[in-house]
Amino acid sequence: MINVRRANANFCAEHFLRLCRDQVARAIKDFQMLSSTDRVLVAVSGGKDSLAVWDILLQLGYQADGLYLGLGIGDYSDSSGAFARSFADERGLSLLEVDLPRDHGFDIPTGAAAAKRVPCSACGLSKRHLFDEAARSGGYDVVVTGHNLDDEAAVLFGNVLHWQADYLGRQLPVLPARHGFPKKVKPLVRLGEREMAAYCVLRGIDYIVEECPMAAGNKHLGYKEALNAIEATSPGSKHDFYFGFLARASARFTPEAEAEQRQLTACERCGAPTPGEVCAFCKLAERATGVPVQLGRRS
Ligand code: SF4
Repeated sequence: MINVRRANANFCAEHFLRLCRDQVARAIKDFQMLSSTDRVLVAVSGGKDSLAVWDILLQLGYQADGLYLGLGIGDYSDSSGAFARSFADERGLSLLEVDLPRDHGFDIPTGAAAAKRVPCSACGLSKRHLFDEAARSGGYDVVVTGHNLDDEAAVLFGNVLHWQADYLGRQLPVLPARHGFPKKVKPLVRLGEREMAAYCVLRGIDYIVEECPMAAGNKHLGYKEALNAIEATSPGSKHDFYFGFLARASARFTPEAEAEQRQLTACERCGAPTPGEVCAFCKLAERATGVPVQLGRRS
């Protein structure tokens, strides 16, 4: 039996798997995430969430390819890539790969040190840039990420703590395609971390269990722990916090998010949308490699 505390219910394996599929289908419908003809690109890390969402989308009948980004984080990247590849190979799926050291000449530890950024900041901006670029060049309609309810509640918690108005205005389960960005959706927002781990076990999906070694000291993990402590005594709090924000508060921050988007122009080196002349990724690559990135250099 699998216990879902916030629903105050126990499920057998079959009904639990159905619950996961139904919650994803409901999120897709409620937030108009996908249409049946969309070409979908799933951002796959080799972890439980991204492999589970890929698996569920395929079961729901969507055409979905995967994209794995090699970040050059030592053994962690080697092994997470192996999990992503074997998931795709065993099911005959198409997995695109971009390798930061091979394709762009630097890895996340080097890039973060050179740019004097914390690793997760350098990593996050690189991932966003490379997902967008892969979706544009591959002609995909939508990028799917495996952010679950725990992730979204923790990000919201951090954004509220620091009143990051523009981030709050963009913290939505769906971001439409505009200003040169592809559409981005998060179909796992109705499911928690524990549920995704149970889903993978029941479906026989092997995933990387180890945490990224660069995650130590990441504020996001601290916010997750704080919310886990609240959830333990008050089940359903994460759900109410996140979905209450979407229903009652999110629209209040739309003007701030839109003001930031209106300032975007094309990066003079790679063409990606950016508020300055050169995008954050091209600046990071230049600091990490010592070589200005030229338009057309990247594949
Ligand atoms: S923990 Fe940080 S550095 Fe590691 S994969 Fe996640 S965002 Fe990147």
